[in-house]
Amino acid sequence: MLERASIVVLDVATILKIDVKALQLPELEDKVQKFAEPAYRARQIIDWLYKKRVGSFDEMTDLPREFRNRLGQEFAFSSIDIARVLGSRDTTRKFLFRLADGNLIESVLIPASPALYGSRSDRRTICISTQVGCAYGCKFCASGLEGFCRNLQPNEIVDQIIAVERESGEKIDNIVFMGMGEPLANFDNLMRAIRIINAPWGLGIGARHITLSTSGLAPQIRQLADEPLQIRLAISLHGATDEVRNQMMPINRRYNLEKLLAACDYYIRRKKQRLTFEYILIANVNDSPDQARRLGRIARRLGAKVNLIPYNTVHGLPWSRPSTEQQDQFLSILRRSDVPATLRREKGHDIEAACGQLRLQTKREVETATS
Ligand code: SAH
Ligand code: SF4
Repeated sequence: MLERASIVVLDVATILKIDVKALQLPELEDKVQKFAEPAYRARQIIDWLYKKRVGSFDEMTDLPREFRNRLGQEFAFSSIDIARVLGSRDTTRKFLFRLADGNLIESVLIPASPALYGSRSDRRTICISTQVGCAYGCKFCASGLEGFCRNLQPNEIVDQIIAVERESGEKIDNIVFMGMGEPLANFDNLMRAIRIINAPWGLGIGARHITLSTSGLAPQIRQLADEPLQIRLAISLHGATDEVRNQMMPINRRYNLEKLLAACDYYIRRKKQRLTFEYILIANVNDSPDQARRLGRIARRLGAKVNLIPYNTVHGLPWSRPSTEQQDQFLSILRRSDVPATLRREKGHDIEAACGQLRLQTKREVETATS
């Protein structure tokens, strides 16, 4: 069924207020003290938000009514609505969300699968978005097709996990920032969200179960290396030479392979952690044996793992995945170079699971229906 296009008018006060779910516990404690309430009130609010997961201040029944009203005047309390769900229980499920301002974003819930990013078996992984659209315009990607709209707020990032857990009834134990948007271009909101996701008072998901993927923003990779959290990092490499990468990813003209790999080196030295290189296989673009050998040399030098992902066709784009034989050949060249490599045959191919695809499809349907 088609979604109705809706224009949402938000009053200025709502836009200017900070959302209560964008705050860290110490910040909330500060605020509560300014209201001349005892410090333990902050804990009570946090428990209502992340343990009992209520949807309004009114439901926080052990807080005095007047204090609840005061909270409502001071903070926004937004939620994200599920606009559409695709897929079934034991396969990849895709969630399309409508934000408070009417924008659409998406998350993907991936069932248990062999380890992708380090832990022995990645169970109930959710892939979440960090921006509406993306400014980086990679030539193969649906998220970049319609350009950038805005950054997600910390609460909009965390709410994707809460909403998917509520709808699916499953506890999520692995987070990958590989949905729509470039996470490192929304650095501060992302770090705020990650602290909430990681905190014992928040969602309590260990840093090693959180993976962030970047198209290669070298300065922010260094900035991330200086953060204390041990989250995992995946680099969307997709090309083993500047020539090939330039054809696919405009970011490579700003931070070429040399600059990107120097930032990766810095990250590895600071974190003492193994990186993952994501490499989408696209027929006749980056799938030659020469690229495989060069990729092998880069990965071996940095001690990195490689995840090969056969390209998911995007409507309106000319790219396609190589044959299975070609994919296997690429994989075996890497393995012969002694590089730990996996070939991830996408589970969500049939439900437009690559990032940005469902949103794009829905937007186009709405536009067609309302034109
Ligand atoms: N902006 C970040 C994270 C979001 S994209 C980044 O680029 O890393 C997450 C991953 O999905 C990236 O590795 C991206 O290259 C990949 N991707 C994008 N479009 C795809 C498609 N059509 N098929 C397969 N993977 C795709
Ligand atoms: Fe943006 Fe990542 Fe898509 Fe490139 S691959 S356009 S950086 S979301």
